[in-house]
Amino acid sequence: MKSYLTLILLALLAIGCNSSSQHLPTNKKAKNVILFIGDGMGLAQASTAFYFQEKDPNFVRFPVIGLHQNKPTDDLITDSAAGATAFSTGYKTYNAAIGVDEDTTSRETILEIAAKQGKSTGVIATSSITHATPASFFAHTAHRGLEEDIASQLPGSPVHFFAGGGLQFFTQRLDSADYLDTLAANGFVVNTQKLERPGNLSLEHKYGYLLAPEGMPKMQEGRGDFLPQATQLALDYLSEDKDGFFLMVEGSQIDWGGHDNDAEYVIQETLDFDKAIGVALDFAEKNGNTLVVVTADHETGGMSLSAAEVRMQRDYQHINPTFSTGGHSASLIPVYAYGPGAELFGGIYQNNDIFKKMVKALHLK
Ligand code: MG
Ligand code: ZN
Repeated sequence: MKSYLTLILLALLAIGCNSSSQHLPTNKKAKNVILFIGDGMGLAQASTAFYFQEKDPNFVRFPVIGLHQNKPTDDLITDSAAGATAFSTGYKTYNAAIGVDEDTTSRETILEIAAKQGKSTGVIATSSITHATPASFFAHTAHRGLEEDIASQLPGSPVHFFAGGGLQFFTQRLDSADYLDTLAANGFVVNTQKLERPGNLSLEHKYGYLLAPEGMPKMQEGRGDFLPQATQLALDYLSEDKDGFFLMVEGSQIDWGGHDNDAEYVIQETLDFDKAIGVALDFAEKNGNTLVVVTADHETGGMSLSAAEVRMQRDYQHINPTFSTGGHSASLIPVYAYGPGAELFGGIYQNNDIFKKMVKALHLK
């Protein structure tokens, strides 16, 4: 009888240990990081993916959720440059800063650090590739408006794959230089026509797609599956690297829909972004060594999923999104994380902590 009780006690202890260990961080190292930035995507924007499509959004696949505060050094409300630079360098900075701190000192970005450690890197955006968000990962300049300067920094940067718009900043410049030539001289195979998969996709080459003079077309204007397909192509290429990779994917125009207070624009851009997230999660599920982080730099438009109003009566059966500003807002921003290191992203923290958490998950420093 006594030994029987001991056995039960031991069994209970074992069960107890087992269940508590499930809550401890695994501390498993991430080999790859995919960072998704939905520019201007607050909780209301992300929520549209739950109400304006038939299937479950890919957002439901994230086991860890956190919140970040995104205040820059010089204002209460951030722009995309200071927001992305906080993610890319770990430094909070002033609005309009690209890869520099508040004293305009260049700070190494996570993309540059990853490349130094032998990883391959990529940036994808639906804006120009020289726009504030993507630029903050490979360029260093005092002001986001200097897109020709930013373009001139891309060929010599450690980016191995890029896709987006912004061709004019490489070819129609005040200095008359042709930076498509410079890209080619630096080992890039550049396509300015379409997102075509190269026959010999290989780490021996670098690849660049510049598919619009400035921003890519809106979803409503026929952009199609550019973002999910560019994400898939980048993953096919970057995952060849046995040392791993860092990839940043931006849904740039969620922000532009917010500035326009155009709900349909926001919704279509968010659904497209959600689709690209699905591509990355499918990859990460199979791969097992990939951390996927989805967040935004800030919220745009003060968007609210309000009830429709019909003759002064609220109609709770229909959502008619409303906006409170044509600019950005100060609300805290959700962070969604999946994969090794995801547990680091629970809680409430600052936007620049996201850099530190990615570095920690990759064991880079
Ligand atoms: Mg942006
Ligand atoms: Zn904006």
